[in-house]
Amino acid sequence: MNIILLGPPGAGKGTQAKRLEEKYGLVQLGTGDMLRAERASGSALGKEVQAIMDAGRLVSDDIMIKLIASRIDGAAKGFILDGFPRTVPQAQALDAMLAQKGLKLDRVIEITVDQAALIDRLAGRFTCANCGASYHDTNHRPAREGVCDVCGHKEFVRRADDRPEAVRIRFEAYRQQTAPILPYYQDKGILTRVDGMADIDEVTRQIVAVLSKIAA
Ligand code: AMP
Repeated sequence: MNIILLGPPGAGKGTQAKRLEEKYGLVQLGTGDMLRAERASGSALGKEVQAIMDAGRLVSDDIMIKLIASRIDGAAKGFILDGFPRTVPQAQALDAMLAQKGLKLDRVIEITVDQAALIDRLAGRFTCANCGASYHDTNHRPAREGVCDVCGHKEFVRRADDRPEAVRIRFEAYRQQTAPILPYYQDKGILTRVDGMADIDEVTRQIVAVLSKIAA
């Protein structure tokens, strides 16, 4: 099963992708995570994309298409794309790549959310510096203040692009460059919307309900 999770920044794509990865044994291909790993490793690619990411702008299609092409091979049993495609040329390149490998997309799930809620989610978000578990200043603090629930680590990080100036640019990039992908998949008859304003477990239930129809 090959699926794409689409939705604006903060919609919960990464959170849901991790849950689906466990449930279905799919490989999560999160392009934001891949780029952050490149940066952390100090690679040439990481250095090249650093300023663009922190400003909230999109990395070039060329770079992103090469990056995803190098990972899709390892996911022949099924993948969840989270953060890719983000432009129509990326969506077209993905189709060409899959066709070449005899693979197809089963479903594109759009997680819809209200913009005011997203700003609050992003402004309050922080993650464990060790294991990446995510938290929120008001909605989801660690059970023991300053200690990660999952791994016990005591250091947390906030993304530079969760600052309000960068968040505004990320929303604009979504509206102008990513939202036009939705009709592309709608026309192919593979787009389904789920309500991302529901709580995390309920969103997972909605997605699982959609996917169970494919798996059946
Ligand atoms: P994310 O973690 O998905 O919010 O991605 C963080 C940042 O990585 C984005 O704001 C972009 O700068 C960059 N990025 C991730 N995926 C893509 C993509 N498919 N196309 C262009 N830029 C991307």
